[in-house]
Amino acid sequence: MPRPISATFDCAAFRANLATVRRHAGAARVWAVVKANAYGHGLARAAAALAEADGFALLDLDEAVRLRDLGMAKPILLLEGFFASQDLATLSALGLTAVVHSDEQVAMLASARVSRPIDVFLKLNTGMNRLGFAAERCADVFARLRDARAVGEVAFMTHFADADGPSGVAAQLERFHAATRGLPGLRSVANSAAILRFPDTRADWVRPGISLYGCSPFADESADDLGLRPVMTLASEVIGVQSLRAGERVGYGGTFVAHAPMRVGIVACGYADGYPRHAPSGTPIVVAGERTRTVGRVSMDMLVADLTSIPEAGVGSAVTLWGEGLSCDEVAAASGTVSYELLCALAARVPQRERT
Ligand SMILES: *Cc1c(COP(=O)(O)O)cnc(C)c1O
Repeated sequence: MPRPISATFDCAAFRANLATVRRHAGAARVWAVVKANAYGHGLARAAAALAEADGFALLDLDEAVRLRDLGMAKPILLLEGFFASQDLATLSALGLTAVVHSDEQVAMLASARVSRPIDVFLKLNTGMNRLGFAAERCADVFARLRDARAVGEVAFMTHFADADGPSGVAAQLERFHAATRGLPGLRSVANSAAILRFPDTRADWVRPGISLYGCSPFADESADDLGLRPVMTLASEVIGVQSLRAGERVGYGGTFVAHAPMRVGIVACGYADGYPRHAPSGTPIVVAGERTRTVGRVSMDMLVADLTSIPEAGVGSAVTLWGEGLSCDEVAAASGTVSYELLCALAARVPQRERT
């Protein structure tokens, strides 16, 4: 028997989350964001389970090629565009849509000869200050793209810096509208947080990522409250039990001290499986269906759960690290990060299963 850890992917939850996103997105078309191997969920699996999406958005040309090889005929959007002019032939041949965010990319398109024009999303920087043209340059860049023979349809997009936070989207949305006013072409601005909180960001295409995987983009609103269901469940088992006397310590560095007699379970999951090493004592964990806490430092292959209040738990008891019954958002928050990072970090060594 292998080590008892596994990640199970609930494909029905994928479909339910897509339906929930669509309810918020109205008539907007949906780019399912499947970058980073579909946030750790597996690109092929996500694309199959989210087959009802209108298109797929990702970063790597290789992954786009893989989707086409799998028979995916829907639009595919490269969120950072292309990185070299040699790639344009592939984009053209496979009918990939490219974000264009830099003058270098415009120049490559202007001098390219391709068999079939490439559709692009002109990306505007409206305040995130990551990728994109200054909003004032929109009309100028649009004109250059329209004149490039290698370019097909030109659409417009931007990305919000704080759709999940106190600043919201108003200032960026206003800058986007002002910059694109009067220009023909489709618009796309909304990530999960904007879709769920700001209906006026729907536009023509929305770009949900984290919500499709069943986690919340918000620190102050849970996935459950949003009607989202976790797709990935990381589960394992207790493989050892220790009884501690008051004053004894647990794990590397002895960072946790038992102040009273305790029973703890050793769980077959560690940071080499993708569990965050920085999860402190007190991080929620479910053992034998009961919610408890971790104690001590997470090590490479193991971590420790407090079983004091779960006398029936012992070797072989089921453990949920995150997923069904314990949102990844909670584990992430306790660890000072976001669920995105934990999902993406699921290690290749963890056996994967699928529930359809
Ligand atoms: C990752 C990404 C998204 C999806 O964001 P979520 O917060 O996961 O919904 C949307 N748009 C762009 C440009 C992205 O890079």
